[in-house]
Amino acid sequence: MAAWLEELKEAAPCPVLPGEPSAARASYRAGGPFEALALPASSAELSRLMSLSSSLGVPVTVLGAMTNVLVGDKGLPGLTVCTAGMTGLSLDGTSLRAAAGEPWDSAVRAACGAGLCGLERTSGIPGTVGGAAKMNAGAYGQETFDTLSEIEAVDRRGERLLLQRSGLRWSYRAVEGLDGLAVTAVVFSLKRGSPPALEAERERILAARAAKQPLDLPSAGSVFRRPPGDYASRLIDACGLKGLTRGGAAVSEKHAGFIVNTGGATAADIRGLMDEVRERVRERTGVELRLEQVLLGDF
Ligand SMILES: Cc1cc2nc3c(=O)[nH]c(=O)nc-3n(C[C@H](O)[C@H](O)[C@H](O)COP(=O)(O)OP(=O)(O)OC[C@H]3O[C@@H](n4cnc5c(N)ncnc54)[C@H](O)[C@@H]3O)c2cc1C
Repeated sequence: MAAWLEELKEAAPCPVLPGEPSAARASYRAGGPFEALALPASSAELSRLMSLSSSLGVPVTVLGAMTNVLVGDKGLPGLTVCTAGMTGLSLDGTSLRAAAGEPWDSAVRAACGAGLCGLERTSGIPGTVGGAAKMNAGAYGQETFDTLSEIEAVDRRGERLLLQRSGLRWSYRAVEGLDGLAVTAVVFSLKRGSPPALEAERERILAARAAKQPLDLPSAGSVFRRPPGDYASRLIDACGLKGLTRGGAAVSEKHAGFIVNTGGATAADIRGLMDEVRERVRERTGVELRLEQVLLGDF
């Protein structure tokens, strides 16, 4: 075990697990080990981890529920912090505050149940509130930054920051101004709506997602970003790539925008299939697909 890891384990305020397999936690169910995985339960613990790892000179990767990442088979060096244990939700009038590790969909459900609108069409997006803030996750014409008003975060030295919406820049599945920061909580400014109408919209969206997406197999959602004026899934389907396989990875027959792990896929299988799809779509259509998913570590 590296000397920094011994020191970190000794001083950390929460469990730090050496060699934990990412495949056991990431939604792709593939990928190599984290050199060290820390599991903070609060923003105070996260802050302490950030300052300890910074003083030890260790690189840090902050993750949520790992539903939009692929870790290479050789693993991810340095410290990985999983924020999924940092949960909590509170409502104050039309304001909803959610801790970074709160499951996104539980925040949406709470808002709909309280008759607050602005999140309902994002029902069923997997992952955490922190991950959604970093990715500007969205679906069915609604995205995280439509209603996000503030982000609480800690920086690399463990200092707490409060970021206002006006100080950030966001676009489709991308946010500028959060690099190097760990999101600890997000505040949403919602509007009053009718609880039955919101519940009905939520049910409609959940049913639409179940009908379109291969939710029975491990994946990390849409692999590629939507190219301007089109859909990656439409292009992939039009190129006849549904069902294309590499090892245990396959382009989903149900939704061509997803790569699924049909059993025993390695990260190299998934990565190789991503590259092949991009190449074949470029050759056939001239469109260069860009990855939405985040590749981490060594492949
Ligand atoms: C079946 C399925 C369907 C999906 N459908 C959608 C969809 O409709 N729309 C959509 O937008 N996405 C979708 N996704 C992708 C994914 O669920 C979202 O991107 C989600 O917001 C990622 O959250 P996470 O907690 O899993 O983040 P992770 O995958 O853990 O991390 C994603 C990125 O966010 C960063 N990050 C995570 N937490 C923090 C934090 N606390 N502080 C700082 N950075 C952080 C990570 O470093 C990484 O860069 C889908 C995925 C699956 C498996």
